[in-house]
Order: sequence, then C-alpha cells, then structure tokens
Amino acid sequence: MDVRVINDKFKEHFGVAGEMFASPGRINLIGEHTDYNGGFVFPGAIDKGMVAEIALNGSDKVRAYSVDLNDYAEFGLNEEDVPTQSWARYIFGVCREIIKRGGKIAGFDTAFAGDVPLGAGMSSSAALESTFANALNELFSLGIDRFELARIGQSTEHNYCGVKCGIMDQFASVFGKAGHLMRLDCRSMEFEYFPFDPEQHGYKLVLLDSVVKHELVGSPYNDRRASCERVAAILGQEFLRGATMEMLDGVKDKISEEDYKRARYVIGEEQRVLDVCEALKRNDYVTVGKRMYETHWGMSHDYEVSCEELDFLATVAQECGVTGSRIMGGGFGGCTINLVRSELYDSFITTAKAKFLQKYGHEPKVYNVVISDGARRI
Ligand code: ADP
Ligand code: MG
Repeated sequence: MDVRVINDKFKEHFGVAGEMFASPGRINLIGEHTDYNGGFVFPGAIDKGMVAEIALNGSDKVRAYSVDLNDYAEFGLNEEDVPTQSWARYIFGVCREIIKRGGKIAGFDTAFAGDVPLGAGMSSSAALESTFANALNELFSLGIDRFELARIGQSTEHNYCGVKCGIMDQFASVFGKAGHLMRLDCRSMEFEYFPFDPEQHGYKLVLLDSVVKHELVGSPYNDRRASCERVAAILGQEFLRGATMEMLDGVKDKISEEDYKRARYVIGEEQRVLDVCEALKRNDYVTVGKRMYETHWGMSHDYEVSCEELDFLATVAQECGVTGSRIMGGGFGGCTINLVRSELYDSFITTAKAKFLQKYGHEPKVYNVVISDGARRI
C-alpha cells in the first residue's frame, strides 16, 4: 500500500505530520467453528492491513479522515459523542474501551487507509481496531498488554458495532508474526507460534472469493451451537473440546442423527488442527493440504455450512492438483483458502476463474496472501 497518499491527506487536513502505525488482517488456516466449542483456531496475520498517521492535537476531540471512503468525522471522547459513520465507530469504540479500562487519552488527528478487502473474511475491522488500540497505547504510554489490546478491539465490535465476535481476529491482528501461524486455545487462551512459510517451500497461499453471501432462513449459526451444546451436555462436558469419536459413538443412540454429524465434524476438526501443527514441524505441507480438504468436506457434509459455489471452488482446486483447499470462515459464502504449489498457481487461477465464470456468471476475486507481522509502529 502506498502510504504517501495517507501522508498527503494528513498534511492537507491537519497541516503537520504525525506518527505511523499499521495492523494487518488475518487468515485462518484451519480450525473452523471450533472457537465456541472451546477448541483451537490457527490464524496468521497477512500482508494486507490498515495504516494510520496519528498526531495528538491538544484538544479533547478526535478528527479522523478515511482516505478510502473519502469521509471525515469529528467526535468527542464521551459515551454520548458516538459518531454517525460506521467506520468512525470503530475508532470511537477503541477510545471508549481504553477509557473504560482507566486509560488516560486525549484528542488526536488521524488519516488512515487500508488494503484488506472489506467483508471478504480477512477482518478489515480487526485491522482497524488494532491499529488504533496499539497506537493509542504507545502514544499515551498506557502500558496495556497485547492481549488486552485484542480484547479492546473485540469489545469495540460488541459494544459499538453490533458484532458479537470471538477474539480470534483481533488476537491475530495484534500478535501476528511473519512466517508463523498461531494456534490459539479458545478454552485457556494460551497460544503457540508454529512456523508457516509456504513460499520458502515452493507453495503459495491464495484466497478465492466467491463474492456470494447466502441469506439463510433461521439462524444456522445458533442451530450449530445448540447441537454442539446438547452433545457436550450428554457427554457431561462444558465444551465438545476434548471429546473423542469413541465417546461420541457411545452416546449415538441418545442423540439425533443431525447432532451426531455436527459433533463428528467438531471432534474431527480439533484433531485436524493438531495434525496440521505436527505436520508443520516437519514442513509436511502435503498433510496440511489433506487436512484442509477434510475440513472443507466436513463443513459441507457434516456441519452443513457450505454452499454450491464454495463446493465448486474446492472441487476445481482438487481437479487442478491444488495441495489444500477449504472454506475459510463461518460458511454460506465468502472465500476458500488454497495452498497451491507455485508451479501450478497460474493454471489453477486461470482454470478456476474460467470455470466459475462459466457456471455462475462472474469470476471469483483472487487475493494472494503472505503471512506477516502484527500491530506495529512503522
Ligand atoms: P470484515 O470481515 O472485513 O472485518 P466487517 O463488516 O466486520 O468486515 O468490517 C468492515 C467495516 O470496517 C467497514 O464497513 C468499515 O466500517 C470498516 N473498514 C474496514 N476497512 C476500512 C477502510 N479501509 N477504511 C474505512 N473503514 C474501513
Ligand atoms: Mg469484521
């Protein structure tokens, strides 16, 4: 991303120069619908994110300019000062959540821009939150630890943006490390870095965005959660995490066929994350890819959160000899994440675009991603 555009806009609006901060979006290699089951997720920060220039302005007001939306907002720091523009609420929310935690902050000027595609499943919103949470922490020497910075972003979504998200996106955006993914245990909140450097081993990581989002009747997300909770309760556990297939088979006649399939997916997914981590210690990308396909078809057949377009993309990937491909995110639309040998990359992209266009009337969008560092000053 060209930061000079931000510098120019900042100078034009505010006359001076500020300090530069950046935070990334994220991918999740494997570990889907595991967070609310107390299981693992396995995200990494990417080379697409948000960059903000910020300078304290000696007032009690924030003056913010969104370069991408060409929009300006000005707001105070009290609860009643909530701005009308939704993009500005992310910044306002971060300020409020810091203040609620006792952080002493004051007014600032900012211009910011980003290159995370909005709403494509790479969490542009977490990139925005962690940019400002990290920047304010540094500029006001607040001494907030990194996990709390992630929680400030999460609370911003909950309290100011109406999104009841988990912690993964903000966690990944704050803690990201180039060449590494992070296995986060959603029960204990402990995490561990694992090396993941596909380029170094002859692979590329690419997302194909189906650009569809199916509106569904009812609440499939809540239904899936309820299935998991019922099976966990019958097993006498708080979460499905830690349950085995043997345990599930032991209660098979006490649960519905549907709940059985849902739990089978979740139990399988927990093992797949662990398998992938072990495989990465040996740089065994072939096993990583196999598990990705298993996740995809588990989400499609057992968890039933896929859709025709995503199954189509995974099938085309398989036919093209792509090492691994699966739905990324909750499902019912959005992207697949693909691990592909570099020499197959061009033919895969060409084929996937052509076949998808022929079948659905538009091409999928293509996003190459490289695993990169988390929130930082630049
Ligand atoms: P995502 O899955 O990408 O996080 P969300 O709907 O959660 O999608 O967040 C997108 C919102 O975040 C946008 O509607 C906007 O308010 C804000 N946002 C994201 N990127 C930018 C940007 N570059 N400039 C301004 N606002 C942004
Ligand atoms: Mg978001």
